[in-house]
Amino acid sequence: MQSPQNIRVHKEQRALELIWTDTDVSRLPFRTVRQNCRCAVCVDEFSGKQLLDPDSVPEDLGLLEVSLCGNYALRIRWSDNHDSGLFTWNHLRTIGDKISGG
Ligand SMILES: [Zn+2]
Repeated sequence: MQSPQNIRVHKEQRALELIWTDTDVSRLPFRTVRQNCRCAVCVDEFSGKQLLDPDSVPEDLGLLEVSLCGNYALRIRWSDNHDSGLFTWNHLRTIGDKISGG
């Protein structure tokens, strides 16, 4: 499994940048990450159906706090006060690959 060797938060550009150990870089807009949250509030844990309306996420969403969860995930607190989501490296990498069309 890939893990980031460096994580940068670009508050001005509203993007999270992850530099992976294979030197690939994922540049993830805050809003896109938030829209891909898979916590129990955003996704029905039984059906896997998305409960979050992606359009309801503000365009100018900010990131208040980011912390490491063990060595496998990030916990992010967003400016809309949502902080129950965990983003594993795999998940973040998948979001990044989707953006870059991979
Ligand atoms: Zn969530």
